[in-house]
Amino acid sequence: MKTVAFQTLGCKVNQTETAALQELFARAGYQTVAFAACADVYVINTCTVTHLSDRKSRQLIRRARRSNPKGLIVVTGCLAQVAPAEVLRLPEVDLVIGTHARERLPELVLDAKKNRANLVVPLDKKSGFEKLPVSQGGERTRAFLKVQEGCQQFCSYCIVPYARGPLCSMPPAEAVTEAELLAAQGYKELVLTGINLGSYGLDLPGQTALLGDLLKELARVEGITRIRLSSIEPTEITPHLVELLLSCRKICRHLHIPLQSGNDEILRRMNRRYNASEFLYLVRWLRSEIPGLALTTDVMAGFPGETEENFAHTLELVRLCGFSRLHIFKYSPRRGTPAAGFPDQVPPAVKEERSKRLRELGDRLAVTFQAGFIGKRVEVLFEEQSGHGRLAGLTEHYLRVTAKVPEISLGKLAEVHVLGLQREGLYGETVGA
Ligand code: SF4
Repeated sequence: MKTVAFQTLGCKVNQTETAALQELFARAGYQTVAFAACADVYVINTCTVTHLSDRKSRQLIRRARRSNPKGLIVVTGCLAQVAPAEVLRLPEVDLVIGTHARERLPELVLDAKKNRANLVVPLDKKSGFEKLPVSQGGERTRAFLKVQEGCQQFCSYCIVPYARGPLCSMPPAEAVTEAELLAAQGYKELVLTGINLGSYGLDLPGQTALLGDLLKELARVEGITRIRLSSIEPTEITPHLVELLLSCRKICRHLHIPLQSGNDEILRRMNRRYNASEFLYLVRWLRSEIPGLALTTDVMAGFPGETEENFAHTLELVRLCGFSRLHIFKYSPRRGTPAAGFPDQVPPAVKEERSKRLRELGDRLAVTFQAGFIGKRVEVLFEEQSGHGRLAGLTEHYLRVTAKVPEISLGKLAEVHVLGLQREGLYGETVGA
């Protein structure tokens, strides 16, 4: 049997796509083997968000060649899309294919055996939403469904719009069909992913189905008990979406809203489409509308020109927003983005020190948010063993909870009475235990 090995760098969208490519090769008669094994084909799904991800991509390519000097090496993903010629110049590489038009990849691999090829389709030639099989690559409880592609915001530090291209949405009927298939496979939670999820449907004819409309459709799918949004831009949160979060209890009361900075001048230079007071107003409005809402975010430390005073604004806004979790990034210049050429690049030691302060603040805010659940009942979707006869799972607020429950509860929702905090979240006992 032919064998194929995969390796993925970067975001949830990349991971979801690799799972789909894995399914594609399985249907073509391939057996997936470990990346370290000697495989006939290696597929490396690259990321190019920072020069570090570029370096890691090249390291994976060399590793694959060492594992099998005769193996066929396919490089796909964002680095392949933005720098195809550069990637194909690497002697180890046989086939380069970008971030779309991969539906026929197993066939294309056959041709590449004869001659090395750059099959990257330019973004302006992109035709519709890439039709890859929806597969979960081993996830058992939460299914990731990519429904949106592309971004046109062009934040000054971000290479993604150059790698992912214009907005492109999976037609709602297809999304519902995929959700039904996933429910039939026993998945309880659906995590909607996209490069810019909030702009779902803006490219569809007549813009008749936007994110809120899609959520309504998906909420009708039998068997799916939870729907989570992976991320949404602050400028894309509508009253309609808030209404849905209130009226439809399947939609998790957790929003991941990237902030990036709390200083207006830095936000302007990032080309973000809001200022600090607008963001705070949004957070306070959401909290007043949706009780107990969990908000998580992305924050960047050390954007070019960021002064100590600018950074103090970020710390203060993060504190005022009371996020339940922070994803902290140190600014990293990315060739091909405007910010890479900005003066006043912040020294690495300062970036490190600022992200450390953000981490400390983030930990304090996380404990404050979690402590609010002690003594309360929460619904947990148990998804893994956590030792000592306990299972662990997530609440709708994206909090990890462990409890002593029978193994048959894996993949099931159960009500838990929260007893206290522990290192990675909450612990409790199931109600009626
Ligand atoms: S919204 Fe900004 S940060 Fe996000 S993918 Fe688009 S350009 Fe990048």
